Amino acid sequence: MERILQRWYDMIAIKSVNGREVDMADYLARQLEQMGLEPHYSYFPEDAAARERPSLWTVLDSGRPGRTMLLIGHIDTVDVTAGWDTDPFVPTEIDGRVYGRGAMDMKGGLAALLETLEYFCAHREAFSGRILACFVADEEGLSKGTYQLVAEDVIHADYAIMAECRYESVAVGFRGRYSFDVTVHGKSAHASHYPAEGENALISGGRLAAAIEALPTLPHPHLGHGTWCIRYIEGGNAGTLIVPDRCYLFVDRYVVPGETEESCMEQIRAAAAELGLADKVEVRLRPRSSPYMRSFALAEDHPLVTVLQEKFAAVTGGTLPCSYDPSVCDSNILAGLLGIPTVTFGPSGGNMHGDNEYGYAWQVMNCAEVYKQMVEALLR
Ligand SMILES: [Zn+2]
Repeated sequence: MERILQRWYDMIAIKSVNGREVDMADYLARQLEQMGLEPHYSYFPEDAAARERPSLWTVLDSGRPGRTMLLIGHIDTVDVTAGWDTDPFVPTEIDGRVYGRGAMDMKGGLAALLETLEYFCAHREAFSGRILACFVADEEGLSKGTYQLVAEDVIHADYAIMAECRYESVAVGFRGRYSFDVTVHGKSAHASHYPAEGENALISGGRLAAAIEALPTLPHPHLGHGTWCIRYIEGGNAGTLIVPDRCYLFVDRYVVPGETEESCMEQIRAAAAELGLADKVEVRLRPRSSPYMRSFALAEDHPLVTVLQEKFAAVTGGTLPCSYDPSVCDSNILAGLLGIPTVTFGPSGGNMHGDNEYGYAWQVMNCAEVYKQMVEALLR
């Protein structure tokens, strides 16, 4: 079996369900060492003691000045579902499909990245600048692996290839997502005196919830629109005769480029003012340990995109259209937060996150060839 496919099979056989990625990191570290590269381990704070969830990064320097290409993929998978026909940790080829957890998402992409690295380790004359490779934990969770590399100031690059499973098109834009805490205040009173006394925060909160979902969203030519979604409402007390004086709304918001957390909060405040609730509503970005995912869209004529399309055509004879994704992924961190032009393209397959996930060997091999040619063309 060819080296690239052997590695793909090896990695499928290594269990790296989100929550314990260390065996995959160790495997990758050995592969990098065998190429003569130095693997660096990175641990996010929650795992500082247990050390079971490392991410890994390495740099291949050509020895000549130039640009930096980031090659990146995640090493975790989702958990195993109950209905598999084969052992999800024994890669099994049936009719040209290779079944296994991570076969599609995204150990084929990792195998293609390793192959690309190994090629340039042996051909340092074939590029200028640096190749930074990152293999991150927790993408299927909260992306803590990538955020930790950002916190450690590891990620600086002029281009990024996110080797996520997407083969029929290249994703050049993603929506972003924010969450907001909205608290509506009323006035408590004994329920027997209501409505002459008291002001029911649940009624104000309900009116505001409906108004928020009716708020406009900016259009984007490719990403469409963002969304407003009231995901949770809390308030009142069923056990005592009190007019509720507080109502909490959890507001979820997908955004497109041009919409920011500030502009969204301003919209919520304006909706409150419209209902006469201006001084009774508090709005804040819901705190979380990592930054929110901003929306981005890379220009379709950016060299990173056009070179990828050109090399895809050269390798496969096919065309690779641009696509846009309504959800978020680690590409949002690279492009939205760090401003690195990022394409999301890699070997795909079927049954992602479900029973009988599978990938295709020929896509893994084609992607490695496309990545190689991209690096050669862009780091010259
Ligand atoms: Zn993935």
